[in-house]
Amino acid sequence: MTDTFSLAVLDWFDRHGRKHLPWQQNITPYRVWLSEIMLQQTQVATVIPYFERFTQRFPSVADLAAAPVDDVLHLWTGLGYYARARNLHRCAQQVVNDFGGEFPATVDELVSLPGIGESTAGAIVSIAFGKTATILDGNVKRVLARYHAIDGWPGQSGPLKALWQVAREHTPEARCNHYTQAMMDLGATVCTRTKPACDACPLGDGCIARATGTQLQYPGKKPKKDKPVKETYLLMLRAPSGDLLLQQRPPQGIWGGLWSFPELALDDSVADYCANHHGVAADIEYWDSYRHTFSHYHLDITPVLVQLPEPSAGVMAAGQALWYNVSQPPAVGLAAPVKRLLEQLHELTPLSC
Ligand code: SF4
Repeated sequence: MTDTFSLAVLDWFDRHGRKHLPWQQNITPYRVWLSEIMLQQTQVATVIPYFERFTQRFPSVADLAAAPVDDVLHLWTGLGYYARARNLHRCAQQVVNDFGGEFPATVDELVSLPGIGESTAGAIVSIAFGKTATILDGNVKRVLARYHAIDGWPGQSGPLKALWQVAREHTPEARCNHYTQAMMDLGATVCTRTKPACDACPLGDGCIARATGTQLQYPGKKPKKDKPVKETYLLMLRAPSGDLLLQQRPPQGIWGGLWSFPELALDDSVADYCANHHGVAADIEYWDSYRHTFSHYHLDITPVLVQLPEPSAGVMAAGQALWYNVSQPPAVGLAAPVKRLLEQLHELTPLSC
């Protein structure tokens, strides 16, 4: 059944919807999946160059599955939310190993793969396979919460259930691929978070939030909790050659699998740490602290530049450490604050180093 809601959305898509994005050309399940994962919590304009680089370097899911995870993390550097990149790689491997290199065409099978939730699965099924399936990403939640005046934070099960129910009711049998694209576009470009353009909205006539002037009350906000603050030193251990010691972080936890400077608690002495692990430091320079905020806490980082007397023997043997040459950087995934510090260090490093 097609209701007036979906007819209005489809009509808007024909006249205003975006049809020239890179992943809307040569549509395949692989390209749709890749774009959907990249677009989670990230804007279209940011994603486009990443999508182009990824599809050039990994033209198929098999190419992505065969690549070392470090290559994937390296190409992902700057997109944030690195769990997505690790799941992307695991998902590609599972598609190759369990599904013969072809993405499955049902929501149930797709959600069994790493990093694919119900909404992403719905987008792949409708856009790539041309079947009827429902999506409910952040943009669509906002449109539906406003249109139907659904109270509560969508992270809680009650409001989420109500949103899925109306999302399913509105999903049309015909042209579901265009409807899916249109709903995502509508949320991203018309029913925006802080300035909904209700006069340009195809759903303006039936929208309760518009009628009552309560657009910004929907969707309900997440109940606030104060984030704890943690503090750390990031040790930029520099060898006489100018190379810097990086360690690979464990796969779980913050910056999982990425390369980072060693961390040290503020209670510990940098000089003692160096003396115990790398030899007596020739120079120690404390940089200004700054705050990096994660979803669950703030991390106050104090970078410390330590000039080592000589390259430390032993650290390379672990296999999870490397000496990073800022002039000829190796292709490894870097935590965002580390990337910034390396860039600063590159500017400071004389070319002869
Ligand atoms: S009328 Fe306004 S608030 Fe309602 S869906 Fe459209 S843009 Fe959003």
